[in-house]
Amino acid sequence: MARSVALIAHDGKKEDMVAFAKANSEVLRAFHLIATGTTGSLVHDETGLEIERMMSGPVGGDVQIAARVVQGEVAAVIFFVDQLSAHPHDPDIQTLLRLCNVHNIPLATNPATANLILSGDL
Ligand code: PGA
Repeated sequence: MARSVALIAHDGKKEDMVAFAKANSEVLRAFHLIATGTTGSLVHDETGLEIERMMSGPVGGDVQIAARVVQGEVAAVIFFVDQLSAHPHDPDIQTLLRLCNVHNIPLATNPATANLILSGDL
C-alpha cells in the first residue's frame, strides 16, 4: 500500500481544507489518504478523493492517526488547527502533534506549510 497522507481540519478550518484538497487533488491521489471522520467525508464529497475515514477527532480519530504515525505508515500529516477555538480533545491533538515530532514526520498545521510539503519530495 502507498504510504499515507493524513488530513485533519478543525471545524473553523474545514473550508480551508476543502480548498487545499481541491487545489492539490492530483498530488493527493497518489497517496493512500486517511482522515478524521468529518474532514474525510467533507473532502471526499467535495473532491471525489478516496479516503479511509477514522473516527471523528473528538472521539478518538486524532489518536487513530497518531497510531498510524507510530507504525511508520504516514508520509505526512496535514492538520489545519483552529487556534482561535477551544477543543475538548486537546490532549489527543497534542498527542498527534507530539508523535509527528517524535518520529520526524512532516507536519503542516496551516495551508502555507501544507503547500510547501506537497511541492517537496514526499
Ligand atoms: P473531524 O475531527 O474531522 O471529525 O471534525 C477533526 C478534529 O476536530 O480533530
